[in-house]
Amino acid sequence: MRIIPISLPTPFYIGPVNVYLIAEEPLTLIDTGPKTKEANEALREGLRRERLRVSDIRRIVLTHAHEDHCGLARSLRDEAKDAEVLIHNWETGHRIGRLEDASHRDLLARAGVPDSEIETMRRIYEEVRRYADSFADHEYGGLRDEAELEFTNGALRIIHTPGHTPGSCSFVREADRTVIAGDCVLKRITPNPVLSPDPIDPSKRFPSLAEYLVSLARLRTFAPTLVHGGHGAPVNDYEELFNRYLRAIRERQAEVIRLVPKAGASAWDVSRDMFPETDDVHRFLAVSEAVAHLDLAHSEGKIAVEMSGGREVYRQLAVN
Ligand SMILES: [Zn+2]
Ligand SMILES: [Zn+2]
Repeated sequence: MRIIPISLPTPFYIGPVNVYLIAEEPLTLIDTGPKTKEANEALREGLRRERLRVSDIRRIVLTHAHEDHCGLARSLRDEAKDAEVLIHNWETGHRIGRLEDASHRDLLARAGVPDSEIETMRRIYEEVRRYADSFADHEYGGLRDEAELEFTNGALRIIHTPGHTPGSCSFVREADRTVIAGDCVLKRITPNPVLSPDPIDPSKRFPSLAEYLVSLARLRTFAPTLVHGGHGAPVNDYEELFNRYLRAIRERQAEVIRLVPKAGASAWDVSRDMFPETDDVHRFLAVSEAVAHLDLAHSEGKIAVEMSGGREVYRQLAVN
């Protein structure tokens, strides 16, 4: 099975995104890049190098629905006529922009984010939304955990790897233990568990970091020899990266716990202490990270949390 990475430019801080062409029948594209002229042209150039065209694509599979990964899906599908689009049904970003949904904004309010900041974040994500087209519910199919994407020569096993987003999926080729992991596994950075409503009960937060740790451990059971991530170079030593991630997560958790004052603080307060310099979209990512670590620390019995005036206030555990 030929897996061909194509790097596409993005207008985002993260830099270029990797999409993957599976050069088998049916011709399959995993992720698409953002909806920009530059990404579109780079993708066509990548296809041309393989003597292929957009109209040859039969299947578009999305690791997750962030704009840098799903933005061109709709226009490519239209151009490729009856190409099938597949994504896990816990994803929402291909249907609606982030923070457009009230349940998503409620989570921010509960995390202590002031209303004016929520409005700013919302406006920023409205801008980001320009980089993706939306899909209606009947226009795509669902990726199911443990099912296979079949090709005339072999198959990729679908592994639901939530954490970065609730519906993030990875694709495993067991014959040579190769994984395409989207933003679940990135060589240089620890992926951000982004604040999201729980797909089963949107009034609750998705336990993104706890789920992410399970996903990393699950990928480890395949003993990957090569992991293709959504950004940056491939990972040849998953075991080393896995241990580095765990260390980074433990260190960040300890830091977050230290930043919770005796008098109590919201996740927003903690995120401003942790990343005082951030602005724009990074404030959302910073509060996402603080919430993720505080949630995990709370679920592990390391800090206390209570509701106060509609906000969650974290406190150090009382010493007996
Ligand atoms: Zn992402
Ligand atoms: Zn990404």
